[in-house]
Formats: sequence, C-alpha cells, structure tokens
Amino acid sequence: MVKIYKHLPESIQDLAVTYQGWRLSKHRFGVDFKQSFRDFSDRSLWSKNEIIEYRRRKVLESLFRASLTPFYSRFFASLGMEWQDFEDPEAFSLIPVVSKKEIQAKIDDFRPREKISSDSVIKTSGTTGESFSFPVSKNVEPRQWAVWWRYRNRHSIDIGDRCALFASAPIIQGKMGSRPWRYNRFGNEYRFSIFHISRDTAKLYVDSLNSIRPSWIHGNPTAISLLASYIIELDLPVCFKVKCVTVGSENLLGWQKRVIEKAFFTKVVQHYGLAEAVANISECEFGKLHTDEDFSYVEYLANEKGEACSIIGTPFDNYAFSVLRYDTGDLATLSSEECSCGHPGRVVENLDGRLTDYVILPSGDKVASLAAPFHNADGLAGAQLYQGKDGALTVRYIPASGWDENCLVKLESELRLRVGDKISIKYEKVSEIQKTSRGKMKLVVSELN
Ligand SMILES: [Zn+2]
Repeated sequence: MVKIYKHLPESIQDLAVTYQGWRLSKHRFGVDFKQSFRDFSDRSLWSKNEIIEYRRRKVLESLFRASLTPFYSRFFASLGMEWQDFEDPEAFSLIPVVSKKEIQAKIDDFRPREKISSDSVIKTSGTTGESFSFPVSKNVEPRQWAVWWRYRNRHSIDIGDRCALFASAPIIQGKMGSRPWRYNRFGNEYRFSIFHISRDTAKLYVDSLNSIRPSWIHGNPTAISLLASYIIELDLPVCFKVKCVTVGSENLLGWQKRVIEKAFFTKVVQHYGLAEAVANISECEFGKLHTDEDFSYVEYLANEKGEACSIIGTPFDNYAFSVLRYDTGDLATLSSEECSCGHPGRVVENLDGRLTDYVILPSGDKVASLAAPFHNADGLAGAQLYQGKDGALTVRYIPASGWDENCLVKLESELRLRVGDKISIKYEKVSEIQKTSRGKMKLVVSELN
C-alpha cells in the first residue's frame, strides 16, 4: 500500500487516507478512550489536593508494577528495600534516572509481565535520528489521546470539528499535483503537506484553506509559521476564522507564535507530550502551561548550573512496560507564579528545547538551554544556531516584517548570557532554515559534537 500510494490519483489517495484514519481511530478512540476521557474530564473538577492524592496512589501502582520487572526488582533488592519504601519523594529520588539509550539495550528487563496479544510496540523517531521502540498495553495510546482531547476541549475544540492538519507524515510524495491536501473523510481532517510550502505555493495553500474553512488548524509550528510568514509577506487574504491554532510535536518559539497569530487572527495554543507517555503539559485558557499531574508523575530536575530543568517522567498505566524516572531529554523552566485559571498542575514558564541541542564553549562546557533567547527574539521569520568545526557560532536567520538591526543586538545580548563572551558569534541572513527529515526545525546544528 505504502509503495503504490504515491502513484494513485488524488481522489483515490483521499480514500487511502480515509481508510488509514478509520483504522487508527478504531484503536485511538474506542472503548478505552471513552473511559479515559470521562475519567480525565471528571478529574478536571477535582481540587489540587485530590489530584495530588490521586497521583500518589498512581505512583505506588507504578512502583508495584516496576517491582515485577528484572531491572527494578534487582535494584530494590540491592538496597535491601521493598517497592513500598520508595513512596516518599526523598526515597523515590534514589531510583536511577534512565535514558532511552539505557532502556533500549535491555528492553526485556523492563517488562512486568509476559507479552500478550493485545500489546503493541510504539516506535519513536528522535529529532537527532535515533529511534526508540517500547511495548505498550492497549490502553496507553487511547489514554494519551484522552488527555490531549481534554486540553483541546478547554479551547472549545471538539472531536469531529473540521481540521486543517499540518503534520509530519508525507501525505503528498513527489510532485504536489492540483492541491496541497488530502482528505481524511472519517476524521473530517484536511491533511496538508508540510513539505511543499514555499513562496510559490503559498497562494494555493491559502486558496485551499479559504474554500475548506476549517474550524481549527493543528500541526507542527515550523510548517504553520512558515506558511504564516508567506501570508504576511505576500499579503494573502485569509477569509475564515478558526477557533485557534494548536501546535505540538516541537517547541513553539515566540516569533513563531506571533507570526501565526498575526496571519490567522487567532490565538496559538500548545501542549507538550511524547509517545513515551511519561509527561504531558497543556496550555490553559489563560495561556499558561500546566503539568497534567493526573497523567504521570513529572519531576523537574535542576542541573548543577541552575539552568533549565530536565523533564523526568514516571508513566502510569502501561501494563506491558514499566519504567520509573525516564529522562525525556527535554528542558523546561518552572514558573514561580501560580495561575488563576483554577486547573491544578505546576506551571511551566518555558519549554527550553532539548538536551541534545547544545553548543560547546571554548572551556569544553556544554550549554543546552538555548531556546529562551529565541523565544524572546522579535522580527524573525526563522532562526537557527550553527556551530562549525572551529567552534564559532553562526546565527542563521530569516528576517520578518518589523525586523531591524536592534533585533540582532537583543538576541545577541540574551545569547551572551548563556554562552559568555569568549566565543565568536556571526550572523548570516538566509532564505531557508535547515529542517529535519520530518519537517521540524532543529534549533542547534553542530558540526563540532
Ligand atoms: Zn492556568
């Protein structure tokens, strides 16, 4: 099917996309989803104390399940302790933080029970190319979609609303043909190709959106902000009003948010989640990012330099695979202020990129929390930090409307706060930013590491 797809006529590709939509929906939105969605929605009304007590009970369940795995039973025994002894946060912090690399090498050591026929395997592809496969029980994926739909409901989006989707799947392969989208009738989803957006095709994208009139737009912020920057630059008329634009799957940067809001006259909201289902963070109605405390147990671990925290997550309810304190490789800064929206959940000030997006200073130190300077930068339609083999940094940038020399002065002063003044920084105006094979923007490209 995959091989012949690209040779099919557009209308038949719509049918193939619809079939795929139906097949995925059967699992994602079946009985397990309905139950999980009801539970998550009910917990929306709970007090903060009730949620924390619920989380405590779920952590205990995760500890018990972990005690059935070879990895953790050996670890607990090595300390002469039982799984119940780790309930206290101080004892819990003795449990080693594990990375995907460590787990992948001995995946069977993390199984709490034998594989059963309803289990499946999820494969992730990291931005740096490394993939990770792990077993899941059949409830895991529907439960994750349930927490995402609770967040979307908060922004007035309902299942079945007409969606213009800009996701990484290569929905159009090779030449674009007469239209930049394929239609998943089952999900009422117009799936746009993110790989064909250019100055030349932008008008066709906007004409399509104007005739489709989606009620929301969802997808990858790199792609949506690229289209938005062409809409502004070419003054293309957008003749519909969406409830909002939701983005996920990569960090939303400040300039991306501003350009999307300007082009589509609406708010942009984001969530953080990952296939490993170890942490979820959702934007509330007041624009703050809240940890979904009833989804998993998230720890924000500060590093010794006091920069951004690592996001470490202990998942709930995966009966096929049991991991505690999983290192997501992502960074965040917690807010010191509470949000007045009423949702419980620690507030995250910023998502600060990935630990693997780092540059190396002349001293040999690595600096990873580099998203913040770009969050605050104005007048940019794109930016990326490149470190060459000689160690020098180059900021590759695409100017947007409102750009002037001061934008770079401000960006440099924020960058210097992180990388110091012993490293050279050059600036290079470009017309395109290097992306990953999945169409995402990589904040740091390094030839040095
Ligand atoms: Zn809030």
